[in-house]
Amino acid sequence: MAGSKRESEEGVAALDPGDSLARAGVEWLAPSRERLATMLAGHRLPHAMLLLGQPGAGQTELGLWLAALLLCDRKGETSCAECAGCRLFLAGTHPDFYRVGLEEDAAVIRVEQIRSLSESFSLKSYRGRNKVALLDPADAMNINSFNALLKTLEEPSDNTYLILTASRSDRLPRTIVSRSARLRLPLPDAGDALAWLNGRRKFAGWERLLALANGAPFRALQYADAGLEEIDAKMQETLDSAEKGQLDIIATAAAWSRDQPEARLFWLESWLTGRLRDAALSSDLVNDNRLPWLRVPAREPMIRAGYRLLDALREARLLVSGALNTQLLFEGLLISLMALVGEGTGKLRESVD
Ligand SMILES: [Zn+2]
Repeated sequence: MAGSKRESEEGVAALDPGDSLARAGVEWLAPSRERLATMLAGHRLPHAMLLLGQPGAGQTELGLWLAALLLCDRKGETSCAECAGCRLFLAGTHPDFYRVGLEEDAAVIRVEQIRSLSESFSLKSYRGRNKVALLDPADAMNINSFNALLKTLEEPSDNTYLILTASRSDRLPRTIVSRSARLRLPLPDAGDALAWLNGRRKFAGWERLLALANGAPFRALQYADAGLEEIDAKMQETLDSAEKGQLDIIATAAAWSRDQPEARLFWLESWLTGRLRDAALSSDLVNDNRLPWLRVPAREPMIRAGYRLLDALREARLLVSGALNTQLLFEGLLISLMALVGEGTGKLRESVD
């Protein structure tokens, strides 16, 4: 990726800028693109933009799109793909573009990455134009990283632009959010999303994967690449057993650690995300038979425990490729999951009887 010679960016998962820009061109992001382009043309684009969206809504893609626009030598409504700036950007070698993300096997963006970015950002632009940094996902920073970033946000130098992406603004400190202009990305309706996915490639399972991705098309694509449709039905069966309190934790952990562990973590993450969102949206949980373990009176602590488990799943997914005991990892996660869905059901029974 761009600026990969710089130490801070070594190991950050590669993104194909061309493909990301193509994705950012989807119809449902047109209003967001227009808004950003209009702000830039009117010299009203703030130094820090926070792009917020559900995972897979397109914040990474739109962030790259905006970076490309800022680094394009022509002043158009979108980057031209032809000028020297665009060619450098597309080749992943633009010297004034900095990308900070999760390094391999890391669960957080480290403070050293942010310090290195701040140093680079304080230098003059190589091409005498804009300097742009994409912090993606910014909600993977820890408190030390946030504090290091704050200095850069408080004293922006001319022609420097920070683009932050996040799926949960509640994971960002208020000091960061208040210094950034926020843009919330919409999701397409299901019909548009399915049309786009089928345009990428013909596949019968898009509807289910889109549901599992909570409506976010780029996430559904990621799930298809991870092979989630192969394990989907079995995973749902296992979760049904867990809700009935009939899950053999040791045997399940052993089976999962041997077969597509990463896809299973992805599946669990998306399943739990959907359930927690339903819980937050549902105003009348008492009458909602689908979520017995989230009903009152145990609802609030259950939702908190759900978010803790969600963090653990996300972290596990980032770590599972490394040298750690995957079976033990799954056992721990399954115990938490059982405590959440199994015990919740138990509590409910007590309160109903
Ligand atoms: Zn250009």
